[in-house]
Amino acid sequence: MPLKITGMTQPLPTDPAGDVDAATNEAIRRAVDAGFPGTVADLARLVRIPSVSWPAFDPGHVAQSAEAVAELLRGTGVFELVEVRRAAVEDGSELGQPAVVAHRPARNDRPTVLLYAHHDVQPPGKDEDWETPPFEPTQRGDRLHGRGAADDKAGIMAHVGAIRALSEAAGDFDLGLAVFIEGEEEWASRSFGNFLSENREVLAADAIIVADSGNWDLETPAITVALRGAVAFNLRIDTLAHASHSGMYGGAVPDAMLAAIRLLDTLWDEAGSVAVDGLRSAGLETPAYDEAQLRAEAGLLDGVTPIGTGTILSRIWSQPSITVTGIDAPDVANASNTLVPGVRVRISARIAPGQDANEAYAAIRGHLERHVPFGARLSFEEPDRGQPFLVDTTGWAVAETRAAMTEGWGRPPVEVGVGGSIPFIAELVAEFPQAQILVTGVEDPDSRAHSPNESLHLGVFKRALLSEALFLARLDARTLD
Ligand SMILES: [Zn+2]
Repeated sequence: MPLKITGMTQPLPTDPAGDVDAATNEAIRRAVDAGFPGTVADLARLVRIPSVSWPAFDPGHVAQSAEAVAELLRGTGVFELVEVRRAAVEDGSELGQPAVVAHRPARNDRPTVLLYAHHDVQPPGKDEDWETPPFEPTQRGDRLHGRGAADDKAGIMAHVGAIRALSEAAGDFDLGLAVFIEGEEEWASRSFGNFLSENREVLAADAIIVADSGNWDLETPAITVALRGAVAFNLRIDTLAHASHSGMYGGAVPDAMLAAIRLLDTLWDEAGSVAVDGLRSAGLETPAYDEAQLRAEAGLLDGVTPIGTGTILSRIWSQPSITVTGIDAPDVANASNTLVPGVRVRISARIAPGQDANEAYAAIRGHLERHVPFGARLSFEEPDRGQPFLVDTTGWAVAETRAAMTEGWGRPPVEVGVGGSIPFIAELVAEFPQAQILVTGVEDPDSRAHSPNESLHLGVFKRALLSEALFLARLDARTLD
C-alpha cells in the first residue's frame, strides 16, 4: 500500500462518486440545524451517567449508559436490530462491559458503514480539580463541560445526530448501517476481539468510522491517518538478597536503585531521543507546529527545553518514545540509610506507525538485557502491547470523507497523526480486512479528554455532525461496484 502522510490538505477527488444533489444537501443541513439542540440535550443526559468502566467503579452505571445509548439508537427508527450485548474478555475469565450493537441491511447495492464510538468514560479524578462537577454537564461559552462530554459520548451523539438527519432528509434510505458502541474502551477494550468475532455478521461493513479522535483546530477538520502503538511492562531490578545498612556496605555493593538509574539512563541519548536499537521511526511528513505552541500546550516550564530531534510533530507522531511512569521503591518519608535490594519500574513506550508491537517489545527487552550494569538481575512482568495504525488514504471512503468534511466545515481536512494509541483499531483491521477505516472525531486541542474540565466545543461538534451526515448521504448515493 502506498502510505504517506502529507500533513497538507489534499485536492478533492476529481470524480467524487457519491455526489449528493443540492436539494438533499440542503435538507441535511436544515435537519442538522433543527435537531442540534435536541442532540446536545441527549448528550447532556448521557454525560450525567457516570459510566466509568474501571473495575473499582460501579458497573451498574456502565449498564445504565448502554441502555440509554440503545434507547437513542432505537429512537432513530432506522434499525432492524438494537441490542445490548457482552462478550468474554480475552482470557475468558469474565464478561466484558456491555456494548450496544445496531444493524440495518443495505439495499440496492449500497455500501454498509459501521459507526464506532464508546460510552464508557475515564474516572473523573479529584472533584476539586473541576470547575463544575464532572457528571453535571455545564455549558460555559461555546463549550459543554463534563466527563465524557467529548470522549466519547459526543462521538456517539455525532453518529445518532447524523443518522437522524439522514433519515429526515432522505426518508427511507438504502445505505446499510451497523453501530458498535463499546463499553470498556477506557479499560483496555478487553472483550473487543471476542465481541467482534461473535458479532461479525452484524458488524461487517465496507467502511468503518471510528469517531474517537480529534480535529486540527476549531475551524479545521482532521482525518487521523497514523496512530502510534504502545508497549508497557514492569521491570524488576534486583541486586541483593536482602537490605543492609548503607554505612556497612555502601560503596562496595550496588544497590538496586543505582543499577536501575544507570540502566534506565541508557534508554535515551543526550537529546532525549530513544536510543534503543531496533525501534524504528515512520519518517512521515508533518504539518508546521512551532516550539512556542508546544511549550504552551504541554506546559513546559521556562528554561526547560523540548527533547528529541526532527520536526516537533514527527517526534510525537512518527518516532518512538519511552517514559518511566512509575517506580516501586521506598518513598521519601520512609527512606532510611539502607541499600535497596530491589526496585520495580513501569516502562511505557510509544512505537512508530508501521512497526509491529511484539518486535518493538523484543527490541526494548533486548536493549535492557544487553545494558544491565553490575550483572543485576532483571525480570519482566506483564507486557501490554497495542499495535500502531497507518491508513491507506487512497480508498474511496477517504475521498468521500474529505469531500463531506470540506462541505461540512467549509475547508478541507488536514491529515494528522496521533501520538497516543487506539489499539483496538488493529483488531478491527484484522477482523474486517476489506473494510476502509476512517478515524474522525469531535475533539479539538482544548478538549482535555481524560483530564479534569474535559469539554466539547459545540461549534466543532456541529460541524463534525454535519460532515458525518453529509458523508452518510454521499454513501447512500453511491453503489458498490
Ligand atoms: Zn475515547
